[in-house]
Amino acid sequence: MFSRKFQRKYALTDQGVKNTKKGAFWTVIVNLVVMGGMGILYLLMAEFMDVLTDGGPLPGIALFLGLVVLFVILSLITHVQQYQATYGLVYNEVRATRLGLAERLRKLPLGYFGKRDLADLTETIMGDVNRMEHVWSHVLGYLYGAYISTAIIAVCLLVYDWRLAIACLWGVPVAFALLFGSRRLTSRAAERTKKAALRVSDGIQEALENVREIRATNQEERYLEGLNRKIDEHERVTIRGELGTGVFVNGASVIMRMGVATTILVGANLILAGRIDFMLLFLFLLVITRVYAPFDQSLALIAEMFVSQVSADRMMEIYETPIAEGAETFAPQGHDIVFDHVGFAYDEKEVLHDVSFTAKEGEVTALVGPSGSGKSTCARLAARLWDATKGAIRVGGVDIASVDPEVLLRDYSMVFQDVVLFDDTVMENIRLGKHGATDDEVRAAAKAANCDEFVQRLPQGYDTPIGENGAKLSGGERQRISIARALLKNAPIVLLDEATASLDVENETRVQQALSRLLAGKTVLVIAHRMRTVQAADKIVVLADGRVAEQGAPAALMARGGLFRHMVELQQQSADWRLG
Ligand code: ADP
Repeated sequence: MFSRKFQRKYALTDQGVKNTKKGAFWTVIVNLVVMGGMGILYLLMAEFMDVLTDGGPLPGIALFLGLVVLFVILSLITHVQQYQATYGLVYNEVRATRLGLAERLRKLPLGYFGKRDLADLTETIMGDVNRMEHVWSHVLGYLYGAYISTAIIAVCLLVYDWRLAIACLWGVPVAFALLFGSRRLTSRAAERTKKAALRVSDGIQEALENVREIRATNQEERYLEGLNRKIDEHERVTIRGELGTGVFVNGASVIMRMGVATTILVGANLILAGRIDFMLLFLFLLVITRVYAPFDQSLALIAEMFVSQVSADRMMEIYETPIAEGAETFAPQGHDIVFDHVGFAYDEKEVLHDVSFTAKEGEVTALVGPSGSGKSTCARLAARLWDATKGAIRVGGVDIASVDPEVLLRDYSMVFQDVVLFDDTVMENIRLGKHGATDDEVRAAAKAANCDEFVQRLPQGYDTPIGENGAKLSGGERQRISIARALLKNAPIVLLDEATASLDVENETRVQQALSRLLAGKTVLVIAHRMRTVQAADKIVVLADGRVAEQGAPAALMARGGLFRHMVELQQQSADWRLG
């Protein structure tokens, strides 16, 4: 139970908890061994005093030397163990945590990525884990080890002489009370610093993404000014935060050290009153410095531990967001897609209401309707990019909410407007469609998608890098690459969002040809924008305000004279289906 809480609090892996326990254990041993060293010093001093008062030679030199050698060896061994248990294991912990987070992100429902943007998530995987690394390696083991060894030593001191023990140790709880008392202040400052830092990185990212627009509209100065303001704000918040923690941490350290003064005061009084002898005070003064030392090491970092709480929370938030889970096998009977009374809300507001329709295998089902009527949402739900809030979506009789999204998506090809291309060669970008496809397969798919002729014109043909997100390609070319990908994948279900923008007539014809090859025999759900597609579809589903207004074959809907016919007539003059 405690273990779980501890693990959550410091965002540790299971192995990390074990390592921390190990680190704390060795820290206790190290601290006790060092105390043993003090014991040897004490014995030597005591003998020396005897000789000073009684005269005669110093006895047992060999014994002392032996003890010192033993101490050095023990000390060496335990320090090495402690080092390994704290620093040595952290590298693996960092690696495991980063991989764990990335793996988790991969499985989160897509909706999550609207809530936390890319800069934010990158900051968690890199920055937050870095901050935690410092805590894992430099603080946890030392601090918890110091708690335990100090408790052991405190008990021994209290048994030895309670008056001196209290004079010695009162500062420790007071110092910690001060630190923990200031904790809320520290955490709040950390939260503010983190937010200010995010605003800076968001600002920079935004500027980079929009560099063209900014230049074109001569807004550089305004932009830089804004960025400057954000950076100044970050600096101000950071300095204020660090100043605050600095005051508390140093205050705590000073209070703890005041124990030396009180020990001397109390000790001197006791000696004068004849209650103790000088050697006992000497013993306490020896011990006291060693009691403070391990805390001193971690005190400076305990503020960091508080601050890191923000990082740990941000990491845990990723771990604790429910992932889209499901069965590892998907064995549908055919690939009809059935929407069965589906309702859906991105947040509170429901955007789809009681949507029911079937997209049959071997047919093209076209979703049409005004912008915002829910076409894209239906397509996303069909691929389980989100889960339906009400009702169910079945593919070949299997409720897709019961299937692991990764497994499910093997049966889907998606050709959406926002094609994601990577800064790699044309060949590799197409090969993404099917892991391990041969060059010949890729070329065949490219040819079928009408990519061949434009690729031949590129300087290095299929080996030409296409720039970040395909910057060097036109809209139509990018789309054909994504169709080539889908052809290569040859999945039984195709979800298609027809691009409306920027296709000239020639390009459009080529895209259409490529598409007709891709779509043959599949279950096709298309968000239709073009008249041609709509008329060629086997079935039309007309959406209006998130409801199915009409559905049926195009001719039947025309004959019915409802919303569909109205829309068609409105658009008759235009070649484009501009309702989307
Ligand atoms: P269409 O594709 O027909 O234009 P959408 O499916 O994109 O319509 O949108 C349907 C409704 O859902 C709209 O009201 C839109 O504002 C809302 N919506 C779309 N995407 C999101 C999102 N990621 N978060 C919140 N609301 C969204």
